[in-house]
Amino acid sequence: NLVAVAVEAKGAQGIPRSSGLPDDLFAHDGQITKRPVRALAISALAPRPGERLWDIGAGSGSISVEWALCGGTATAIEMREDRAANIRSNAAAFGLAHRIAVVTGRAPEALAGLDAPDAVFFGGGLDSAMFDAIWSRIGAGTRLVAHAVTLETEALLGELHQRHGGELMRVEIAHAGPLGRYRSWEAARPVVQWSAVR
Ligand code: SAH
Repeated sequence: NLVAVAVEAKGAQGIPRSSGLPDDLFAHDGQITKRPVRALAISALAPRPGERLWDIGAGSGSISVEWALCGGTATAIEMREDRAANIRSNAAAFGLAHRIAVVTGRAPEALAGLDAPDAVFFGGGLDSAMFDAIWSRIGAGTRLVAHAVTLETEALLGELHQRHGGELMRVEIAHAGPLGRYRSWEAARPVVQWSAVR
């Protein structure tokens, strides 16, 4: 059990209750929403027990796992088979396999037939066609959170914010790292987060 091993290796007692768990608690290939940004995603998604999430472009499934740890259920949609396998193993390692369904396929087509969500997280592959397809499928009151790293997706989020309101936020994080005998800030790519309610 990956999680038990990682938690033990850190000498920790169980898993913290807060969102923004360490990245190394998840099987991933580098495509993972990093801990501080994941905490901001979960905060914006505002999970309540019993609610359903669509995690679109789920990658490692870290968002689905943290959502399900708050008492909800998640459908993780991921087009890459190798990453879908990571999601399944992460769900199992956290004891959440019964509350995280994995759909291997491409959104929005792969969403056909799914029960309507209470919240949607867009973590990958967002374009205006995908957005329109999903917007027309979800009910009033559904919470939407999208993260953009590329200029193209960022431009789309700027338009969606103008059209639908909500909150648009840019996050720039830097970590201290070595610079010769000294330390310096190593900047991560900025992430733009748009959150809104349908
Ligand atoms: N939030 C994830 C990281 C997402 S990376 C985590 O924490 O692990 C973005 C993912 O979106 C990639 O794995 C990519 O394969 C997937 N993706 C991109 N376009 C997609 C689409 N149209 N349908 C499904 N998955 C998609």
